[in-house]
Amino acid sequence: MILTDIMKYIESEYKVINNTPCEICGGDYEANELEILVINDETYDICQCTCSLCGHEKIFEFPAPFLNEEYLKYKDNIN
Ligand SMILES: [Zn+2]
Repeated sequence: MILTDIMKYIESEYKVINNTPCEICGGDYEANELEILVINDETYDICQCTCSLCGHEKIFEFPAPFLNEEYLKYKDNIN
């Protein structure tokens, strides 16, 4: 259930990315890498994207507060 929620969240992020035109050429961004970062106890979903037309790179940052608890739990489990 948690995983489903996270997937839904990431899906909605991809929608934002797909609806954002490249600021250089107006092309579509493609997501390359998705990573979760914790900055000052705030969880962020960082998505590195590249324009499929001109190759312009853009970093999308999404605050992901609900990931915080689960992510830290997950981290605790590996340690
Ligand atoms: Zn472009």
